[in-house]
Amino acid sequence: MKDCLFCKIINKEILAEIVYENNDIAVFKDAHPSAPIHYLVVPKEHIQSIMHLESNHQEIISKLIFTAKKVAEETGLKGYKLIFNVGREGGQVVDHLHLHLLGGWTK
Ligand code: 5GP
Ligand code: ZN
Repeated sequence: MKDCLFCKIINKEILAEIVYENNDIAVFKDAHPSAPIHYLVVPKEHIQSIMHLESNHQEIISKLIFTAKKVAEETGLKGYKLIFNVGREGGQVVDHLHLHLLGGWTK
């Protein structure tokens, strides 16, 4: 979507440190990390938020979680947090659905 920050990152119009990518999903480092490891797991399709999910989005939500699990394992995390901020009242600032992957406090 035009004027969407994460669509621009996905389309490589804005630089981000992408750590994993496939046809459906990109995972990149959060620019202002809240943990030693802070990645954003993002569907390439522009979906605004969890509140905007429709029934045909079941598969992409499943893929987001399995991708987070895979990247966490490959990063060597033994435990981690997965967080969706939903809507302004839920702390969502970027209106392109994303799953926060946070970890790395201990090794
Ligand atoms: P939200 O609060 O919407 O759930 O999270 C948005 C996240 O995007 C925040 O953690 C913020 O630090 C991150 N962020 C904002 N702008 C950029 C950017 O330009 N590049 C990257 N990599 N992350 C960003
Ligand atoms: Zn977008």
